[in-house]
Amino acid sequence: MAPCLMEHQVAFEAPVDVLIIGGSYAGLSAALCLGRALRQVLVLDSGQPANRPTPHAHNFLGQDGASPADLAAQARAQVLAYPTVRLLAESAVAATGTDGDFTLTTDTGRVVRASKLLFTTGVRDVLPTQPGFAACWGISVIHCPYCHGYEYRRQPTGTLLNGEMALHHARLLRQWTPQLTIVTDGPATFSPEQWAQLDRAGVRVEQTPVRELHHHAGKLTHLALTDGRQVPLAALYLRPGLAQHCLLPQELGCTYTKAGYLQVDGMQKTSVPGIYAAGDVTTPMRALSTAVAGGTLAGVALNSELLAPL
Ligand SMILES: Cc1cc2nc3c(=O)[nH]c(=O)nc-3n(C[C@H](O)[C@H](O)[C@H](O)COP(=O)(O)OP(=O)(O)OC[C@H]3O[C@@H](n4cnc5c(N)ncnc54)[C@H](O)[C@@H]3O)c2cc1C
Repeated sequence: MAPCLMEHQVAFEAPVDVLIIGGSYAGLSAALCLGRALRQVLVLDSGQPANRPTPHAHNFLGQDGASPADLAAQARAQVLAYPTVRLLAESAVAATGTDGDFTLTTDTGRVVRASKLLFTTGVRDVLPTQPGFAACWGISVIHCPYCHGYEYRRQPTGTLLNGEMALHHARLLRQWTPQLTIVTDGPATFSPEQWAQLDRAGVRVEQTPVRELHHHAGKLTHLALTDGRQVPLAALYLRPGLAQHCLLPQELGCTYTKAGYLQVDGMQKTSVPGIYAAGDVTTPMRALSTAVAGGTLAGVALNSELLAPL
C-alpha cells in the first residue's frame, strides 16, 4: 500500500526498480549498468563528490588528467542518454521500508518508492582546522601518492602523521621524492630504532605544531610553525578524518565496519536485504577506478536480484 503523503510532499510518478542515492562515480556507474539492463533507475545527488577541489584527476585509465567537473559532465551525459535512468539534484533525507518496497523522502519533500536501494553517498573529509588546509586540499594538500604524487615528484614533501603509520608512509613516499619531512604536529612517538631508521633514510622529522599553511591559490609554499619557524614544502600528504555524508543506511539498520565504512559482501550487498552500497562509503581504497568498479558490481548484483523466475 502506498504511504500517506503530507501536504508538502510530492510523489515520484511510479516506484522505480532501483533508487541510487549518490550520483557520482560509483552511483552513475551502477546507473549505467542498470539502465542498460532496462531497469527503471532514479539517481538522487546532492552534488558534493569527494574530488571536487582537485584541478585534475589522475590514475584513471582513459581519463588521466581530466578535470573532475568534465568527468562528471561526461558521465552524466552518457548515463542520462538512457531513457531508463533519471537523475534529480536532490538530497535523500529520510528512508523507511523493507526489501521490495522502500520509501525515500528528499529535501524538497518529494517521496520516491523503490524495490531496491543503492547507497553510493561517499564520505566527507574532515580537515585540520588550522588556516590553509581547506584552501590547499586536493591541490597541494593531498591524500594519495598514486593520484597526485607524480605531479610533486622529487619536490620537498611532507606527511602529517606520527608513529608506525608515519614510518610506513615515509617508506612509500620515498618512491616519489627523496626530500621528505614527517610532520608530527606535536611530540613524535618513534622508538629509538625507528629514529635510527629515519636518520639512515635521510627523512627529516618536524615536531613543532603547525600554526598555518602558507600558499598561493592552494599551492603550498611553506608550513608556519608555532615557534615562528617556516618549513618550505611543495606538497603535504594528509589523512583527513572521515564523516558519513548520509546516515540513512544506519537508520535502515545496515552494519558498519569498525573503521566506519558500510559493510558489504563481495557483491556490494549490505547486511540489510535489498540494500546495496558501493564506492568510498564502503572502502578506504579511495580511487575513481575502484568506485566505478564497485558501482558496476552493485548494478550486476541488483539486476540479478530483480530477475523474474522463468
Ligand atoms: C581531494 C581528492 C582528490 C582525489 N583525486 C583522485 C584522483 O586524482 N584519482 C582517483 O582515482 N581518485 C581520486 N580521489 C578519490 C575519488 O575522488 C573517490 O574515490 C571517488 O570520488 C569516490 O566516488 P563515490 O561515487 O564513492 O563518492 P563521491 O564521488 O564522493 O560521491 C558521492 C556523492 O553522493 C552524494 N550524496 C551524499 N549524500 C547524499 C544524499 N543524502 N542524497 C543525495 N546525494 C548524496 C554527494 O553529494 C556526492 O555527489 C580523490 C579524493 C579526494 C578527496
